Amino acid sequence: MKKIGILGGTFDPVHYGHIALAADAVREASLDEVVMIPARIQPFKQDREYASGEDRFNMLALAAGKDDHITVSRFELQQEGVSYTYLTLRHMQEFYGDETRLYFITGTDSFLKIDTWKNAPELLTKYAFIIGTRPGYRQDEFQEAVKRITGEYGTEVISMHKTELDISATQIRELVASGKPIDDLVPPEVERYIREHGLYRV
Ligand code: ATP
Repeated sequence: MKKIGILGGTFDPVHYGHIALAADAVREASLDEVVMIPARIQPFKQDREYASGEDRFNMLALAAGKDDHITVSRFELQQEGVSYTYLTLRHMQEFYGDETRLYFITGTDSFLKIDTWKNAPELLTKYAFIIGTRPGYRQDEFQEAVKRITGEYGTEVISMHKTELDISATQIRELVASGKPIDDLVPPEVERYIREHGLYRV
């Protein structure tokens, strides 16, 4: 059976935290591929817009370019309205067929809010989850959530104990806005794209 990881997000901009999450998932779960999918409108971030979908896609393509296991999909950018994960995963399952198992990849912060996602029970019964720890999460709260969800839905959950990277897109936008360097946080091609397109300068 083929194993495909799906990593959704706003990627505004993509950073080393996202790339490490995807690469670790490939290694730990022996995935054939990870598809990174920028959201057109993220359900929990509907009130904000920083970089356009096109810019976010271009930065992802630059960041993923060097890794044979990572691809970027325009699927959500091409849909109307809010980008719901259950709709994307339904589409991907149909596209790849029943011989493919889909693994939804998230950081601990997103996973801990899974109950608030649209059609959460469908997500938790039909797909496997790969979770990468992110600084700031509480180990006891996380373990409790995994226990409850696996008990309730029988979800296959793979939690990765990887090197945690204390990086967020919010932090990068703030650094750029105040003219500070972001070299350690994003790949060089992404840093250059942000600079050349004047993104996040407020
Ligand atoms: P923002 O700061 O704008 O809210 P973000 O850095 O959290 O953005 P998203 O695009 O919202 O980035 O994240 C997409 C996915 O990647 C989410 O599942 C999130 O948990 C995960 N993720 C983001 N940064 C990290 C990180 N440093 N380590 C592990 N997972 C991460």
